Amino acid sequence: MESPRHDNGCVGIRVSCGICPRKCHLAEGAVGDCQARRNVGGRIVPLAYGRPCAVALDPIEKKPLFHFLPGATALSLGMAGCNLHCRNCQNADISQASPTEIPAENLPPGALVSLMDRTETRVVAYTYTEPFVAFEYVRDCARAVRATGGFNVLVSAGYVNPGPLAELIPHLDAANIDLKTMSDEGYHTMCGARRDPVLETLRALARSPVILEVTNLVIPGFNDAERDLADWCAFVADDLGVDVPVHFSRFFPRHRLADRPPTPLATLRRAAEIARDHGLRNVYCGNVDDEAVTLCPVCGTDLIRRVGFTVLSNALVNGRCHACGQKIYGRF
Ligand code: SF4
Repeated sequence: MESPRHDNGCVGIRVSCGICPRKCHLAEGAVGDCQARRNVGGRIVPLAYGRPCAVALDPIEKKPLFHFLPGATALSLGMAGCNLHCRNCQNADISQASPTEIPAENLPPGALVSLMDRTETRVVAYTYTEPFVAFEYVRDCARAVRATGGFNVLVSAGYVNPGPLAELIPHLDAANIDLKTMSDEGYHTMCGARRDPVLETLRALARSPVILEVTNLVIPGFNDAERDLADWCAFVADDLGVDVPVHFSRFFPRHRLADRPPTPLATLRRAAEIARDHGLRNVYCGNVDDEAVTLCPVCGTDLIRRVGFTVLSNALVNGRCHACGQKIYGRF
């Protein structure tokens, strides 16, 4: 910490935010790159604490999480601000805004628990933008949810420092992390970020008891080359494990990529083929009309069938294949 004298004559304490690799060094009153954290009197304060700007009931399949309580409803919270600036962001209206600019609900952790009761939900999802920029709120909510016997799921880009991640992991039950590309340069040009912290987040979650799923939004001309997809699949298989479910999602024109075409279905199907060639056992295509089927990795029996976010059938017995007894990755 240092105490510079400002132009206005005030003495202020500069502090660094330790949440993400940007390490914003903020003067008194200044707001970080994410627009969601401010230096108030020498303390970094999350501006969206208790103030989610998006509150909705979603199928858990929408996160997407296919191997965690299929068919469950997730009470989903999103807070304004984000530490990435993705050119393709589909929630830019809230992610690229400050909590001070956007209407929000008044939902401190205690009120969240009451809302779970009223909506008869057991799962809370921290989603839509980057939950870590509201770290203290997410952590406190997650503790309160756990105390009721409920479940916490995180949907994140994974651009976070190891400390906050380690503090949150014990409160998490499942997570879907975006791994946008294996190219560090690609992270830089598409999101203004770096790749390696995301890889470390994924490795840490894979070592933990949290059920982990990984999403790849396949964007034409960005990450859809055979080599890119093969590198991505090799990382998941080698560093996270072949059972970790992967979702290749179809891109639609958005935000600063409004002039780019949607992902051809053939590209998504090719990505899934490459993933299976790398030994990945739970491979899905998202934002498509196709059925998404979970197969037993040992005997090939159809176990869970879905269309869109709807579960059509679930033939698991105590989390195992009903035909051969193989344990299936996830929590069911
Ligand atoms: S969370 Fe926000 S304020 Fe903190 S380092 Fe990251 S971008 Fe900066």
